Formats: sequence, structure tokens, C-alpha cells
Amino acid sequence: MSTQKSQKAFEEAQSLIPGGVNSPVRAFKSVGGTPIFITEGQGAYLSDVDGNKYVDFVQSWGPLIFGHRDESIEAAVIEAVKHGLSFGAPTEAETELAKLVVSFFDSIDKVRFVSSGTEAVMSAIRLARGFTHRDDIVKFTGCYHGHSDALLVEAGSGAATFGNPSSPGVPADFTKHTLLAEYNNIESVKKCFADSSDIACVIIEPIAGNMGLVPADKVFLAELRKLCDENGALLIFDEVMSGFRASINGAESITGTSPDIVTLGKVIGGGMPVGAFGARAEIMAELSPDGPVYQAGTLSGNPVAMAAGLAALSKLKKSARVMKVLEERGQRLVQGMQSGAKELGITMQVDTRGSMFGFFFNDKPVKNFADACNSDAELFAKFHAGMLEEGFYFACSLYETGFISTAITDEMIENAIKASVKVLTRIK
Ligand code: PLP
Repeated sequence: MSTQKSQKAFEEAQSLIPGGVNSPVRAFKSVGGTPIFITEGQGAYLSDVDGNKYVDFVQSWGPLIFGHRDESIEAAVIEAVKHGLSFGAPTEAETELAKLVVSFFDSIDKVRFVSSGTEAVMSAIRLARGFTHRDDIVKFTGCYHGHSDALLVEAGSGAATFGNPSSPGVPADFTKHTLLAEYNNIESVKKCFADSSDIACVIIEPIAGNMGLVPADKVFLAELRKLCDENGALLIFDEVMSGFRASINGAESITGTSPDIVTLGKVIGGGMPVGAFGARAEIMAELSPDGPVYQAGTLSGNPVAMAAGLAALSKLKKSARVMKVLEERGQRLVQGMQSGAKELGITMQVDTRGSMFGFFFNDKPVKNFADACNSDAELFAKFHAGMLEEGFYFACSLYETGFISTAITDEMIENAIKASVKVLTRIK
């Protein structure tokens, strides 16, 4: 497989764009090698500038649940474009998308759209602080909530990939209200509440996807809910990644724990830049212009992005069984890879939630960020490179999650399993 043109494109990009990329994890730094430069996506496949074709298990880091160039999303975007790219004034499409989002989530009465997951979370935190009149927040080590200052503390995803979970450029003053707890460890949260009586909210990825896939235990989430209630703090589920991926009706439908505020992104934009945060009406009433908590955006509710989101969520609404099918395919994939690895004497930990799948080269179950960090990063890097050679595009960091789209067939899954055995045999 030649990657000559990608290498050349990367060199040129590096001379003009820091690291050659516009979002760090794309640079392949933790796995080595050259990021492939994409020319086109079609269904399950990505094509690169060298003419190679890959089955895509990244799906633009989650948004493309129907694969690349889904016909109905593409048609909706083209139609919307014909009417204008942006108005900076309300459209009915925003209300339609809000109606759909509310219909999926029991805990959301009202929702506001923004343009990224980072914005959604940043705004949700401000809202929680404004609602409770408190300053402190609790986040979990290894959870990633976008790159806003207060949340870039011991974060997962790209921040973890580069061994720098907190970032220079964030003044200590800006993070002094961010308290840290350990994922799936309720005692660590109790300690935060013992240390501070000023906690506005606890924010968690209920199905963490930014330290690899690490779902929260149901009992842990129930205890978290109880602790928040006892202490007058709000519980925020950051479902930017897991929303419409782990379950169509949110993590609350599969964990049994309801949040106060939900943040969304990725799938709700159908591939266009959309984020959102929603809550019960009483909380959302605090938001400007009805309430005093300010939040705004020039391109928020952009008509083209709304059209893409509407097409994606309408299609999901009509295909209730889709999540089950995707989960079965994901399970087959990771279990197939796991049993192939076992025969070669390699232990893998695997898991799935809906269309999200994860795997670690780790002897022990992964329950938190420290466990994830104990995985074999070197083997992961070799595995990633080997799978790329075989035509399978996996996330280029062990701290990320894989995604199944409806365009990925059973046959592609079987081929990926066979390729994984071939690669592991070669690199072990
Ligand atoms: N929250 C979670 C759980 C995420 O996974 C991400 C991105 O991966 C974000 C927030 C930030 O979203 P964005 O990259 O759209 O700003």
C-alpha cells in the first residue's frame, strides 16, 4: 500500500498548519506514521489521495451513523443550501429539530443549539452554575468534554493521547473550581462533596468514549444521582459522543439514571457542525433572553446544519431497530477479534454500547482512566498500522472509541476479524 501522496500532503500541511492538522488527534502522533489524506467518503468507505480504500470505523469520530453520503441527509443539505447558507434569524427547522430531540429524551423539555460539543458543554456548565448560584464543578479523570478552559483538566481523548491531560495556557485560576473524581469510584465523588459545599454540578460521560470505551456502572450512576440530589447539585450527562450512538433515547434509557442537563453533538448534526444542550423547562428558563445566563452564537441553529440534523434524526426515528443491529455487528467484531487474539496468547478487553465499540490490549477489565493507561500502547500502535495496511481505518489512539455505521455489512465485519488475526499474528 502506497501512502506517498499522503506523506507529501502531510509535509505541506505541516508547513502551514500546526502539526498539519486542525484537531490534534488526527495527526497519528500516538500511533506513528502518516495520517492518510482523504478525498472521498462513500457508504462504509473512505478513499485517500493515493487511491487506497478503507472500511471506516471512525465515521468522522461518531457523527456519521448512516455512513458517508447518506442519500437523505445529502438531499436535505442540497435543498437547504438553495435557500441560503445562514440568516442569523429563526427558522422553523430549528423548532422541528428541537421537537425531535425532545421526543427522544425524557429529561429534556427544551433544547438550545450551538455549533460544537465544546460549546454545548461550556454553556451547560454556565447554566448549571447560574441555576444553582454555585461555582465548583466535578469532572472525572479521563472524561473529555471539549477544549474549554475549565474542562481541560485531566481530560481524555486527544489531550490524553499526547500525555498532557491538562493544558498550558489554562491559568490555574480558571480551573480552581474544577474538582476531580475517579470514574466508577463513588468514594472519590463523596470526597469532593465533603471538600466543597459549593458544587454546582457533576459532569460525566455516562458511556465514556474518550479513554477508550468505558461505560459507567449502573449502580455508580444511581449513587451519583443520589449524591447530587442530597447536595443540591445538578447532574450533567455529556452525551456529545454517546447520544444517538449508545442508545436512541440517551444513556438514561439504558442505565436507569436520569440527568438534569444533557449535552449533545456529533450525530445530531448528521455530519454538519451542531451541538446542543437541553434540560427540564425550569432549568432552561435561566437562559438568556428569558433568564440571566448569557449564551449566544452567530451560526447557532444554522439552516444547513439543521437540515442535516433533521434528516439524520428523522431517519433514526423511523428505524427503531437500527441500534440493535449495529450493536450486534459491533459485538461480533470485538468478540471475533478477542477470540482470535486469545488463540495467539494476547488478552483483549472488549465492550460495546449500541453502535460504539471499544477494545484494549489489557489483562484486566478497564473501569477507569488509570486502567486504560495500563493498556499496551505499543501493541495498539502496531495493530492500528497493520489494520490500515489491510484496509481498515480504526481510531488512531487507544483513548478513542470505534463506531459502526449502517453502511458496514456483516461481510466487512468478518473480513475485519480475519485481518485482525493476520495482523496480530505478524506483530505479537
Ligand atoms: N464531549 C464529548 C463527550 C466528546 O466526545 C467531545 C468530542 O469528542 C466533546 C464534548 C467536544 O465536542 P466537539 O469536538 O464537537 O467540540
